Amino acid sequence: MLTPTQAANVIAERLTALPSESCPLETSSGRVLRENLFADRDVPPFDRVAMDGIAISYAEYVAGRRTYRHAGIVAAGARPCALPTIDSCLEVMTGAVLPPGTDAVIPVEDIQLNADSAVVLDSAKVSAYGNVHRQGSDIIRGATVLNAGAVLRGPERAIAVSIGAPSLQVSREPRITIISTGDELVAPNVQPLAWQIRRSNTYAIETTLQQHGYNHLALGHLRDDLTEVRDGIAQALHESDVLILSGGVSAGRFDYVPAALKELGVECVFHKVAQRPGKPIWFGVRKDGKTVFALPGNPVSTLICLVRYVLPALNQMRGAKSETPCAAPLSHGLENRHNLTLFMPVDRLQTGAQQGMLKAHATHGSGDFVALAGTVGFIELAPNQHYEAASLLTLYTW
Ligand code: AMP
Ligand code: MG
Repeated sequence: MLTPTQAANVIAERLTALPSESCPLETSSGRVLRENLFADRDVPPFDRVAMDGIAISYAEYVAGRRTYRHAGIVAAGARPCALPTIDSCLEVMTGAVLPPGTDAVIPVEDIQLNADSAVVLDSAKVSAYGNVHRQGSDIIRGATVLNAGAVLRGPERAIAVSIGAPSLQVSREPRITIISTGDELVAPNVQPLAWQIRRSNTYAIETTLQQHGYNHLALGHLRDDLTEVRDGIAQALHESDVLILSGGVSAGRFDYVPAALKELGVECVFHKVAQRPGKPIWFGVRKDGKTVFALPGNPVSTLICLVRYVLPALNQMRGAKSETPCAAPLSHGLENRHNLTLFMPVDRLQTGAQQGMLKAHATHGSGDFVALAGTVGFIELAPNQHYEAASLLTLYTW
């Protein structure tokens, strides 16, 4: 049986990259860039005033001048305006072009501003190009500002917008269908009979995917009937790039998912991983690149498998630069006495000397999704391994 790391590697080898497409700048938020972007101008594009104050000639200051004739005001967005005489100053606003003839800005706090003059206070610290953001000091025109694989979060989107490209080459978003299976499951708005439960997995998966920027999601449910499962999966494969199933993947008499997938030509890459919970996880691909994750139905198993395997896979399919999850220290020692990798839900301590540390969160097993409320995610404990308090562990967040 594969270990979780082996399973993740096998998945990575079998994924098909999504095609790229052109996307208008206006709707590019959260998309993955598939081209390098270059600066169309220097950044900043001109010597830019970085504080509200006065602009002066530094040489004149060094020569001893402290009182300057007030020669005008230069606002941000105003055309450049040159210093008329060496004994004068121009009042300048943050974002304005540094007036030609000046090479220092003294902040408004360090001057006394009169009707027609400005006096520099003794406490002022004046330097050549002080409080000036020099042209090209951040980036030179033509330099790379973003590489393919960047996810357009706030900072990256600001950069993409700043170079003025009307559209960007980005990954096409994956179309994902999420399907639960099980005769015992009813829709959330249905009053369950005594032997039924309300289904929650598709909603948990939907939210997690939405939080990671996936918006082309379709939800469905299938009863434990081979024909219904096969036809439902066939339809979903037709309409989507990625299929995420929950339930019906174990060894029960009515677990029809593996058989249906086989009938539909989806190759089983692996079935079962040496882990707890979520051992019966099934992963497969079809020749046309359709990718299927069939997750065990227990709600905790489903979510853990989604975060551990499906999210990184989707990230790779979008061509996003892979990101190692962050690591955090344990608040207490932990022991995994099993021969399987153990995924353990954790809290992140919010206060006290152990603030930021991870603490195991007790659950009643893989069906106990209520216990997950408020947890930050889970950690992965290797088989038969002891972990001291303060050990650093990878944190998979929900
Ligand atoms: P299965 O993987 O189909 O054998 O299901 C394992 C357990 O998870 C069973 O107790 C199911 O009732 C439960 N389960 C499966 N799917 C869901 C779901 N969508 N919501 C809540 N519980 C589920
Ligand atoms: Mg079932």
